[in-house]
Amino acid sequence: MAEKCLPGTRLGTSLSVSYEGQAFGQSSKVRNPIIIPMLRSDQRLVSAKSDEDIVLKHVSEELRRTHTLTDEQKQTLAKVFEKRLPQALALVDARNVTSYRFKPSGRTIWIVKGRKGEYQVVPESMFCTCDDYYFRVMDNKKQLCYHLVAQQIAEALGQFDANVMSDSHYSEVTSKWSARTSSGRS
Ligand SMILES: [Zn+2]
Repeated sequence: MAEKCLPGTRLGTSLSVSYEGQAFGQSSKVRNPIIIPMLRSDQRLVSAKSDEDIVLKHVSEELRRTHTLTDEQKQTLAKVFEKRLPQALALVDARNVTSYRFKPSGRTIWIVKGRKGEYQVVPESMFCTCDDYYFRVMDNKKQLCYHLVAQQIAEALGQFDANVMSDSHYSEVTSKWSARTSSGRS
C-alpha cells in the first residue's frame, strides 16, 4: 500500500471548503475538496490550505474539462509558482509524469522524473519524496515542489504515461521509491 511507504500521509482526512471565486476572476462559487493531513507532533507537511494548493487545484479542475492550458491560466500559475511553473511544464511536455494503476485494487501511484531523479508524488496529500519538498517543509515555506505542480497539470491534461499492472507487482514497483521514503532524507 502507498500508505505504508508514506507514514506521514496515511491519516489524511478530506473536507469540502468553499470560497468565492473572484480571486480567480470568476463570479461563480467554486467547491474544492481539500485534503488536510493529520500529523504526528514530530511531522510537518505543506499545508493543503496554502494559496499555491488552492490555485493549482482550481486551474487543474478547469484543465480536466478543457484539456488545454491557456496563456491566461499560465499567467495565473506563474504568479504563484514563478520559476517552478516552466520547470513543471517542461516535465509535462517531456511526458516525465507516469502513473501506475494496480488491478484489481485500483491503487494508483505517480512517479515524476525531475532533473535530479525520479520521485513519488502523492496528490491526495500533496506530498513528494524529493529533497526540495523536504527542505521547503522544514523551512515552513509551505511551497509545493515543481514535481507536484507537474503531476497535477499532467493528470488534469491527460498528458502522462499510464501503466496498468497486477497488484502482485505492487511491492516490486513501489520498492524503488518507498525505500527512499522510509530512509527519510538521505
Ligand atoms: Zn518534488
